[in-house]
Amino acid sequence: MDKIVSLAKRRGFVYQSSEIYGGLNGCWDYGPLGVELLRNVKEQWWRSMTFREDVEGIDAAILMHPRVWEASGHVANFTDPMVDCKECKARFRADQLEDALCGSPAYKGRKAVKCQAEGKFTEARQFNLMFKTFIGPVDDAGAVVYLRPETAQGIFVNFLNVQSASRQKLPFGIAQIGKAFRNEINTKNFLFRTREFEQMEMQFFVKPGTDVQWFEYWRGERMRWFADLGMRAERLQFHQHEPDKLAHYAKEAFDIEYQFPFGWGEIEGIHNRTDFDLSQHQTFSGKSMQYFDDGTKERFLPYIIETSAGASRSFMAFLVDGYREEDAPTADGGTETRVVLRLHPKLAPVKAAVFPLVNRDGMPELARTIEQGLRPHYRVFYDDSGAVGRRYRRQDEVGTPYCITVDSQTLQDHTVTVRDRDSMQQERIASDAILRYLRDHLG
Ligand code: ATP
Repeated sequence: MDKIVSLAKRRGFVYQSSEIYGGLNGCWDYGPLGVELLRNVKEQWWRSMTFREDVEGIDAAILMHPRVWEASGHVANFTDPMVDCKECKARFRADQLEDALCGSPAYKGRKAVKCQAEGKFTEARQFNLMFKTFIGPVDDAGAVVYLRPETAQGIFVNFLNVQSASRQKLPFGIAQIGKAFRNEINTKNFLFRTREFEQMEMQFFVKPGTDVQWFEYWRGERMRWFADLGMRAERLQFHQHEPDKLAHYAKEAFDIEYQFPFGWGEIEGIHNRTDFDLSQHQTFSGKSMQYFDDGTKERFLPYIIETSAGASRSFMAFLVDGYREEDAPTADGGTETRVVLRLHPKLAPVKAAVFPLVNRDGMPELARTIEQGLRPHYRVFYDDSGAVGRRYRRQDEVGTPYCITVDSQTLQDHTVTVRDRDSMQQERIASDAILRYLRDHLG
């Protein structure tokens, strides 16, 4: 993990928020390459969802009417059990003590669970994870609003708006990507548990009685999405929630888990939410949330199958999954370790790099012409500094699938070499065929 966090910072994927002020816990900034990778993850998700005829997209506000969070159960239930260490005053999630380290110098490096065994912890109490703020100029109780802790509620309250505008019939879904905020007691593991993050959620509305079959369908689809984007199958697994561990709204729930260096962790939850949400909003708002079936002339509350993925957690899983240290040949016949990010080409922040082999004989000019020709189509990078082997390594490290090099033969026959990131094999192609080559290989 340390190597990945350091690569992420050095190469401009992720920085700690407000670093020059000592950082803000649980908040991260995405740098030039990180923002591209994150956008690509979200784009692939958006396409997989909304390029279908039975899913529509929306973008709801982060601030919602406070009654939404009463109806959803968040005001009453969105809590984690918290304990204080009497010794060092640090606070921990009572159900995750095995990972927590006590903050006091006396306990430095010792697991907090040890402190508890020695009677250093207070009784657990419930802590609500929603961030509160005030709307308008008056900071009083009547003006309290929350930063949304999930994007799902913006979908539920818009169910009938979207259905009538799009004239969708059941079953159909609504997809949304957006920021969510949770005042986590302990943030940890880089992007895994943060206080501000992005979610990619799709709520699929179905006729009650067909929910079990749609749940199975989406469970399969969502696992396939990660695998199709190159995530190693042996590092993905389902975790089924035991009946006594189900959230208050769920009839059935599976997590998709990824094997991070620190252990298995959830990257997406798939839930059968029944008609809990629509019926709660119907009760709290006094407005009917029923669907009218033209065919059977029935009115009823649909059931909802939820697929809820973290964009930031998925980003981290793709980064971790892509990171490899491999033996690579050196120019003098030896071997060295190369770091390579084997990101799926659709996710790679930069699709191709263009190099002149040397900075003379017209090579830079030719390489610049190639780069300019590719720029309207792909994110490309031009590099003419240092030995070409080092330039390859720099691109390997950020996951660039192809490196195109202009060399002396280019001056003779207008061909260039194209080097493949993963196999490190090079082939020669005509310089006017590069765009087609990239189209064929990047999709
Ligand atoms: P956890 O048990 O890890 O706290 P959760 O079960 O509360 O997660 P959900 O409410 O199901 O998570 O949220 C859906 C997805 O949102 C998660 O699978 C995860 O990818 C992402 N997510 C949730 N909380 C965080 C967080 N604090 N930081 C980053 N991503 C998060």
